[in-house]
Amino acid sequence: MNENDMVSVVIPVFNEESNLEELIQRCLSACSGMGGKFEIIFVDDGSRDKSPGILKKASEQNPDKIRIAILNRNYGQHSAVLAGFAEAAGEIIVTLDADLQNPPEEIPKLVAKIREGHDVVGSVRVPRNDSMFRKIASLIINLSVRKVTGVIMHDYGCMLRAYRRHIVEAILQCNERSTFIPVLANIFAASPTEVEVSHSRRLSGESKYNLWKLVNLQFDLLTSMTTFPLRLLTIFGGMISFCGITFGIFLMVMRIIHGAHWAVEGVFTLFAILFVFIGAQFIGMGLLGEYLGRIYHDVRARPRYFIKERFGRKPGN
Ligand code: UDP
Ligand code: MG
Repeated sequence: MNENDMVSVVIPVFNEESNLEELIQRCLSACSGMGGKFEIIFVDDGSRDKSPGILKKASEQNPDKIRIAILNRNYGQHSAVLAGFAEAAGEIIVTLDADLQNPPEEIPKLVAKIREGHDVVGSVRVPRNDSMFRKIASLIINLSVRKVTGVIMHDYGCMLRAYRRHIVEAILQCNERSTFIPVLANIFAASPTEVEVSHSRRLSGESKYNLWKLVNLQFDLLTSMTTFPLRLLTIFGGMISFCGITFGIFLMVMRIIHGAHWAVEGVFTLFAILFVFIGAQFIGMGLLGEYLGRIYHDVRARPRYFIKERFGRKPGN
């Protein structure tokens, strides 16, 4: 691992005009401080304010340090970061938010961790400076990811992260449309780690995530990780069927002991039969879901494996 590996910093920008000047300055000085080669790639995610103009000017002033990619419309943070990944030329790739909640001064810390030999470096925000609503939303997201993936990282929401090039390439090979980058990265990571980073209030402007966007993100995350919700249908159906059958047997026994009058002339029996059928329907839906889940997996066509390095010569070359 070379100390001079180039570092690419990828920053998605959506209507951040008031933060950009400071962001650019602080990023430049943090990256120059590291010594090696670096580039900062800003991806403008269809901003409707002065952001693209400010970015263009900055890139004109520092053409070999600052690169800009302007998307034609707003595609969302993760798509913007992916666009930045595709542009990045560095061996180490760092992502960062544009709102200065995570100080660019932490970049060297992450890069150092990568150089120690980790391929994914996440970060935990301490202390976290966000609105109560945003904190609760994150808590739910983190808890559910941990549930489905096992605890690998504590904070999936924090986008101040660093990756080795091969991880980023693996992510870029995923064809799926709903991506949650930190989770995808962990799928491919061999030795992920975390560092603590400080977190401040948004410098200015408002969080670009409203309730609806967060709910969407949560669904992206859940469906990208697991088809377990589909299986719930089968389990649920099985339980209802089981109750129906037990109820039916119970009724039959009681009917034999107490006579037709006790069973309200067959009404209970009807219910028992109904339960069995409802349950069977759920099981059927669950099975359909299992197939759907498999189709979904195949359509996503995630790479099944990823070769990190090759040694030796191919015959004929
Ligand atoms: N962002 C983006 N496109 C969007 C929403 C957000 O590129 O549609 C960028 C935004 O400019 C910022 C980062 O993603 O750099 C994180 O957004 P924000 O700070 O609003 O999210 P939060 O801190 O609340 O998670
Ligand atoms: Mg933010």
